[in-house]
Amino acid sequence: MAAAELERLRMAGAGMAIAVLTSGGDAQGMNAAVRAVTRMGIYVGAKVFLIYEGYEGLVEGGDNIKQANWLSVSNIIQLGGTVIGSARCKAFTTRAGRLRAARNLVEHGITNLCVIGGDGSLTGADIFRSEWAGLLDELVRDGQISEEVARQNCRLNIVGLVGSIDNDFCGTDMTIGTDSALHRIMEVIDAITTTAQSHQRTFVLEVMGRHCGYLALVSGLASGADWLFIPESPPEDGWEDLMCERLGETRSRGSRLNIIIIAEGAIDRSGKPISSNYVKDLVVQRLGFDTRVTVLGHVQRGGTPSAFDRVLSSKMGMEAVMALLEATPDTPACVVSLSGNQSVRLPLMECVQVTKDVQKAMDEKRFEEAIQLRGGSFENNWNIYKLLAHQKPAQEKSPFSLAILNVGAPAAGMNAAVRSAVRISICQGHTIYVVSDGFEGLATGQIREVGWHDVAGWLGRGGSMLGTKRTLPKTCMEKIVENVRKFNIQGLLVIGGFEAYEGVLQLVEARGQYEELCIVMCVIPATISNNVPGTDFSLGSDTAVNAAMESCDRIKQSASGTKRRVFIVETMGGYCGYLSTVTGIAVGADAAYVYEDPFTIHDLKANVEHLTDKMKTDIQRGLVLRNEKCHEHYTTEFLYNLYSSEGKGIFDCRINVLGHLQQGGAPTPFDRNYGTKLGVKAVLWMSEKLQQVYSKGRVFANSGDSACVIGLRKKVVAFSPVTELKKVTDFEHRLPQEQWWLNLRLMLKMLANYQISLTEYISGQMEHVTRRTLSIEKGF
Ligand code: ADP
Repeated sequence: MAAAELERLRMAGAGMAIAVLTSGGDAQGMNAAVRAVTRMGIYVGAKVFLIYEGYEGLVEGGDNIKQANWLSVSNIIQLGGTVIGSARCKAFTTRAGRLRAARNLVEHGITNLCVIGGDGSLTGADIFRSEWAGLLDELVRDGQISEEVARQNCRLNIVGLVGSIDNDFCGTDMTIGTDSALHRIMEVIDAITTTAQSHQRTFVLEVMGRHCGYLALVSGLASGADWLFIPESPPEDGWEDLMCERLGETRSRGSRLNIIIIAEGAIDRSGKPISSNYVKDLVVQRLGFDTRVTVLGHVQRGGTPSAFDRVLSSKMGMEAVMALLEATPDTPACVVSLSGNQSVRLPLMECVQVTKDVQKAMDEKRFEEAIQLRGGSFENNWNIYKLLAHQKPAQEKSPFSLAILNVGAPAAGMNAAVRSAVRISICQGHTIYVVSDGFEGLATGQIREVGWHDVAGWLGRGGSMLGTKRTLPKTCMEKIVENVRKFNIQGLLVIGGFEAYEGVLQLVEARGQYEELCIVMCVIPATISNNVPGTDFSLGSDTAVNAAMESCDRIKQSASGTKRRVFIVETMGGYCGYLSTVTGIAVGADAAYVYEDPFTIHDLKANVEHLTDKMKTDIQRGLVLRNEKCHEHYTTEFLYNLYSSEGKGIFDCRINVLGHLQQGGAPTPFDRNYGTKLGVKAVLWMSEKLQQVYSKGRVFANSGDSACVIGLRKKVVAFSPVTELKKVTDFEHRLPQEQWWLNLRLMLKMLANYQISLTEYISGQMEHVTRRTLSIEKGF
């Protein structure tokens, strides 16, 4: 969209009134959405109203509809649930109720409504909109409003944001609350596994999802479950025998525990519910295993929202206001959804229709179609689960040997990637070696063959089980070559950060000198800095953002009894400002200084003034993030001194250097799942490449495309040759030359109340929901 057009929109908000409500089941992240809608609304000059208690408040009116100001939504981003309340409202399902609701909106001149809720709430909103003209006519007839008022309010614009922990809404990659629910499930699984392992137990965990198995599926993948029950894919008849056989096998391979995950809506092929107790009794009767059932229930809705949900909701909230600003009489009610890392708009009722189609497909026992309709990502997750949990080790050996190593600093998810890569290699019949201490270990011969069980329990472990070092191959090339020859390594899977990529590049560049290096190589980016070229996300960065966010939440809270305090928090990331920026959005920071977005003393001055002004309000607290290498001279110490001095008598200052806690902790569900998938995809790709370059009993790979970085770009898994990536890398600062997340900085600044220009805002386009977009775009 042209710059002038966006500036026009900035003005267009003046005179507009927007109301926001949350409805249906609550979900973590709803507050961040309410905050973003409110602030973006105010930012564009609109009046914003908060409607309390969902549709109930809309129908009742009165004190339930309150105009908001900038501070009304302060300090809520970290809270679970919804601070404006949610309800299920019978009255709104009737025309009489909606008539009252219309009367209440008209009274405040509100003709823009943002509804945050599930498909029920959004359907209600669409009905409301389609009836609007009729409702106003009726109000005029009844003498409740004048014709003039009806004319002024003749059009109701609706935008929906999907808040649902089940991720059961078609058209968006993720709904608000799903990632946080997965966090809760994973915390419980981690807690249960420690005790189950001690006692050699089997546990059956029931998670939410009456109609949608997403939570069960992803938690199954992220915990390495032995068996999964989801409504979209009931098990084949005779599953009882198969399941018991599988559980018995995992035990006989040395596993001390079995995990079975069951969605609450699990059914068998005839549509009969499968209950967690039925599964438990089966395991006890047939196998005699000590088995316990845990039903998770509302725990899944609880707790603080994850970083992903806070950022997602902020992005969606901002886009919702843009959608309302741009609405014309012809635009249908839309939902803001997520496609890759971009917000898009989709016609609300088309999405509701596809969502209903999935249910219909399940009701009519067209199960394969149901999985497809859920989207490519769902299908892909399901296929990977089946590969890992249901495939047996190959009976015949392949001619190939692969080695896996970790390079650089530890990052969460590395172990998940090693585990799935090892297991999938074994399924393919390859000989599989793991190397300790990165390239140094490869040079010194710290190489050992591993089997299926050697990586048991690695999925949820933080750090690097293999041991990792930063040494680059250049320093020990001869010895590396010697070991590659000695162990006959034909494929090298390097999991790590910038050094992993740089190291593989060095090996490729040495191919001319050493024929032994003409092997297939793949890098799985794993670093908290998220600075590896060739991917939008590195393994470990989600865990790091969550760790940094949790610390900042605590830091902020520590000041709740202390007036007028500003915290300067230093984050890791090298020159890459990803961690700082995303953490900043997730905690509602006042600023996040990064290397990629250069700043001067004028910016620092503006920030100090901004904080001084803020201290005059009720929110007497500030949080400023600073990436460790954002500026050579404006160090953390410098900022502290500057802010302390300038703020003297107005606020005091404290420093926090987050340091290594950002690397540690248990991996988030996203990193476990992402690591698992990248491990599988990398090995499948390597196997295919090896076949291509195998001839007369040997592997010879010397083309650029035989050494790649695997990554997620938008929604697609991409393999980029390291030799190509070299052209788009800033080696001095260890950064990709282009970084997608830089456009998030605009949002950070807007939400922190800085004057920014909307000219750089990339507005989501209206798309259509088709099966094609659903399945192809959701490719990962
Ligand atoms: P969710 O939004 O989480 O799917 P529900 O289906 O319970 O939750 O819907 C929440 C509220 O939205 C309902 O209590 C009702 O007020 C309103 N609603 C749902 N469906 C409709 C409908 N078809 N027509 C009008 N209002 C509806």
